[in-house]
Amino acid sequence: MKKMMVAGNWKMNMLRYQAKDLTQDILSGLVDVKDDIDIVLAPPFTALDVVSGLIGNSRVMLAAQNVFWEDRGAFTGEISPAMLVDAGCKWVIIGHSERRGILGETDTVVRKKIKASLSDGLNVIVCVGETLQEREVGKTIKIVQSQVESALMDLELDDPQRFVIAYEPVWAIGTGENATPKEAEDVHVTIREITGSIFAQDSELIRIIYGGSVNGDNIDELLHMENIDGALIGGAGLDADSFVKIVKIAGE
Ligand code: PEP
Repeated sequence: MKKMMVAGNWKMNMLRYQAKDLTQDILSGLVDVKDDIDIVLAPPFTALDVVSGLIGNSRVMLAAQNVFWEDRGAFTGEISPAMLVDAGCKWVIIGHSERRGILGETDTVVRKKIKASLSDGLNVIVCVGETLQEREVGKTIKIVQSQVESALMDLELDDPQRFVIAYEPVWAIGTGENATPKEAEDVHVTIREITGSIFAQDSELIRIIYGGSVNGDNIDELLHMENIDGALIGGAGLDADSFVKIVKIAGE
């Protein structure tokens, strides 16, 4: 059965002692949350070991926010999928709009990272979404379609639950503005059609989650949409109470 997913992307925040406090607070808030929801925390690389040690064998899973596509070698500053698995990661976020926009990641780079990660045992959350400018000229569907098709090109999925697509309209990230549930659902339906055309029945198990200024007040409505299978949380994930509130609503 497909489980809802709530993932917290901490971005470039949290020194190690702060990561420790936040993780502890989240874990204590989650004690009475049902098991049928996947909870993922994505701290910065420097705090992966702190968070990994605290979550141990709990139901919370660790994610990295980025990865390189080669296994090892002369790639100064990069981190391989195998290194992330070694650090306790089960998931990796790939193609976040901040990496596409600020660090120049292309669809081709995103695809290489997806393939390397899946084949080395990491599960993938790939982010797609249009900018404000693209939205204003009516290109939302076209952009998302091409990002998703590129991410899925030649992809073999042994288990569709290992692959999550996060629709994150760039204009909604960190702005306090978010897509209406209907706007988000329309894009999710398009994504579902693409995954359906490639993976047939298996595609139903691919989760499509929404991200962009999600908080404890708007999550409920979003999750009532048929094709929204969870949320990727930025700002609200840096506050334990807000994050736990979102998880609890998603688990209801
Ligand atoms: C994100 O960066 O993935 C995100 C969704 O951020 P925020 O929730 O702060 O908009």
